[in-house]
Amino acid sequence: MSPNKLHFLLIPHIGPGHTIPMIDMAKLLAKQPNVTVTIATTPLNATRYGPTLTGPIESGLPVRFLQLPFPAAEAGLPEGCESTDKIPSLDLVPNFLAAIGMLQQKLEQRYEMIKPVNCIISDKYMSWTGDFADKYKLPRLMFDGMSCFNELCYNNLYVSKAYDGLPETEPFVVPGLPDRIELTRNQLPPEFNPSSIDTSEFRQRARDAEVRAYGVVINSFEELECEYVKEYKKLRGGKVWCIGPLSLCDSDNSAQAQRGNVAAIDEEQCIKWLDSHKPDSVVYACFGSLVRVNTPQLIELGLGLEASNHPFIWVIKSVHREKEVEEWLAESGFEERVKDRGLIIRGWAPQVLILSHPSVGGFLTHCGWNSTLESVCAGVPMITWPQFAEQFINEKLVVQVLGIGVGVGADSVVHVGEEDRSGVKVKSESVKNAIEKVMDDGIEGNERRKRAKELGIIANGAIKEGGSSHLNLTLLIQDIMHYTKTSS
Ligand code: UDP
Repeated sequence: MSPNKLHFLLIPHIGPGHTIPMIDMAKLLAKQPNVTVTIATTPLNATRYGPTLTGPIESGLPVRFLQLPFPAAEAGLPEGCESTDKIPSLDLVPNFLAAIGMLQQKLEQRYEMIKPVNCIISDKYMSWTGDFADKYKLPRLMFDGMSCFNELCYNNLYVSKAYDGLPETEPFVVPGLPDRIELTRNQLPPEFNPSSIDTSEFRQRARDAEVRAYGVVINSFEELECEYVKEYKKLRGGKVWCIGPLSLCDSDNSAQAQRGNVAAIDEEQCIKWLDSHKPDSVVYACFGSLVRVNTPQLIELGLGLEASNHPFIWVIKSVHREKEVEEWLAESGFEERVKDRGLIIRGWAPQVLILSHPSVGGFLTHCGWNSTLESVCAGVPMITWPQFAEQFINEKLVVQVLGIGVGVGADSVVHVGEEDRSGVKVKSESVKNAIEKVMDDGIEGNERRKRAKELGIIANGAIKEGGSSHLNLTLLIQDIMHYTKTSS
């Protein structure tokens, strides 16, 4: 390969919240002059995420997939279990993590086919990529799919152990942050607040690989969290590049409608429904790809939406509880009562398409980082209902630091797979109250909306020519180019 060309190998973690932004990143990188991109993933994931790349590839975008056979049978997993949202039960999580580890050998067997590579960008949870990069003497950038706010919180929690020994519900201040951020132990991610399934070894390996990484690529933009970007850069010796929001890399409606999966609603029907409502009037409720709230909690959510009296789109993923949920929707009369103002999407929603429609005025979200950032991009304030992982940390950024959200009052994590034993944590009244605050037309509501819209404008500017993320992408490419030239 000519010394002025770069080949990036992207290795996403195989779960929607991690793969979707990496696919966007692949497009973004491949649009840069003299850059080609290979995405290494498993066959079912290549099929699932491929459609948004088909058009761009046909028109010459230099991106391709390298398929790594997924060792499902070897790891004792059912056929087709190739993504975090397809794991049928909690007891198979260790098998899934073992299968991920086996992908290193699959990549090594195929590496000759794609050489030379100049740089790896791999997900934090594909920790074996650290050893792979060392073996082939390649610089590796970590992608965690989180904000700098989050990375800094995690790091300071790791280093300080400020939560250690405290009662579960006692607030403590996360040390060393630009703002006073308080959390409780039972709001922390599994790294510091383990779930019933032991993933500590997997997480420790991810942490070790993170520390060893050459640099970090962040799906965020500097203006959103300047102080945190500054601090995180200090921590990582400057090698941090905020190149987001990645969801803005493609403004094509049909690409957006297919982002992450085949949507369970026709794109035009969805837009038509949204067109029939006033600007800023609709509440969009969706809990990402992994959250599976239990049925009584789901009912409280639905009743809260109904009581708020706003038109709404409610995305229901009732895997394992389909029958119960469908019975409630029909037998309680809920669906009939709300039919004139509620659109229920059963399955995958075209989220970015929905959020960017002018009639959406509030997003009831679980605060996954992608969803949070997609809401910021659309200038939509949030009703925050964190569930697990780093979502309580994201909520702090949205509600406290940015002032663009109102919490429903969730106070502790419900780890994945532990939903059935968690009961009802948030009542419909609290859901309704938080929705009303966000959708309110008074001074507070209007100021929150104004802040959200202003941030949306800045987010959209960040990735355009002259914007901070656009510049960071150029700097990242220059850095890798320099690394390549000086190390060869
Ligand atoms: N998503 C979507 N439709 C759905 C559910 C999720 O398009 O019905 C997308 C969403 O736009 C986001 C990603 O899936 O890009 C979810 O990532 P996030 O970090 O918000 O949450 P996670 O699924 O990882 O908990």
